[in-house]
Amino acid sequence: MKASILVLAGDGIGPEVTAEGTRVLRAVATKFGHTFTLTDGLLGGIAIDRTGTPIPAETLAMAHASDAVLLGAVGGPKWDDPSADVRPEQGLFAIRSALGLYANLRPVTVHPKLVAASPIRPEILKGVDLLVVRELIGGIYFGEKKREADWASDVCAYSGDEVRRVVRRACELARGRRKKLTSVDKANVLESSRLWRRVTDELVRKEYPDLQLEHVLVDACSMYLARRPASFDVIVTENMFGDILTDEASVLAGSMGLLPSASLGDGPRGLYEPIHGSAPDIAGRGIANPYATILSVAMLLRYSLGLEKEAAAVESAVSRAIDRGVLTADVSPPGALAATTIQAGQAVVEAL
Ligand code: NAD
Repeated sequence: MKASILVLAGDGIGPEVTAEGTRVLRAVATKFGHTFTLTDGLLGGIAIDRTGTPIPAETLAMAHASDAVLLGAVGGPKWDDPSADVRPEQGLFAIRSALGLYANLRPVTVHPKLVAASPIRPEILKGVDLLVVRELIGGIYFGEKKREADWASDVCAYSGDEVRRVVRRACELARGRRKKLTSVDKANVLESSRLWRRVTDELVRKEYPDLQLEHVLVDACSMYLARRPASFDVIVTENMFGDILTDEASVLAGSMGLLPSASLGDGPRGLYEPIHGSAPDIAGRGIANPYATILSVAMLLRYSLGLEKEAAAVESAVSRAIDRGVLTADVSPPGALAATTIQAGQAVVEAL
């Protein structure tokens, strides 16, 4: 098949990890006989430096014209002034919103070889295979913001339709898995959560009676994720809760550098990125873990291009690279010689 993919490398380790993602995309194209046209675009701090805006109109136009977008990460100390009017993450929020990508899928599994990389006890990690579906373009990150000299507010608002579309997506995904849905909210305190819970209840009862639904408060969920993570199948939650819970869940896998994500809307076009940031503390050293980005490429093949066989081949190749012990510093055992970003990418291509 033919597909056009926009690559937004971004800042910090973004260019290092996306280089390995595109290496794998090219290898998939060769092995399976596809034609992928890869185009580079500007987003984040680098876009501010070159054009004065975190998301140039050209980037948005290219995104709309692409079948999928592969993103590295944006941000860094250079642009971190909280009082600045123009910030890298505005570009990220704008592209997610402009493409209508309301469902952010973040799968978490634990590779047997990496159990020791997690601070959580091995018996708790056994059988962990969960998927967080985070609402991505609503809630407190997108609500009205106000600031006075010594006062500030951020509005958290959801409409029933905004809740329904993301919960429906989570239900569809749960149907293809173990049929258990955990909806996470703070319904004991927040009105937006009470609406979320009522809408979710009604929707699941009416349209997905085959699913087992539970409601868990976000504070309890953060504790259960550390105590009994294997009990979760699909977790659906609002924007900020999902952001925080998935960073916590990355500890189960062993590193932020292992967790991919897909951001989807109603159509096949999606945006794929590792869940980590631009990691300024290790940027430019060639030691970042590219597996999260490569696993995001697998999600791109699956959800935007419908290439399930190719997606599974990439996931299996990452797993075999890990089996072989090709591990970057964030997950390699103490004293072992760690792989570089490029070596890890090459190991995946070899396994493919
Ligand atoms: P971070 O995710 O960049 O880094 C957190 C820690 O994890 C660091 O110690 C880092 O070295 C490590 N880490 C992250 N990715 C790694 C990888 N692939 N391999 C090895 N180690 C990895 O979070 P942060 O330090 O809080 O934020 C740094 C910058 O990134 C900030 O400017 C922030 O705004 C931005 N950020 C961007 C995104 C995004 O682009 N989606 C997400 C989160 C943070």
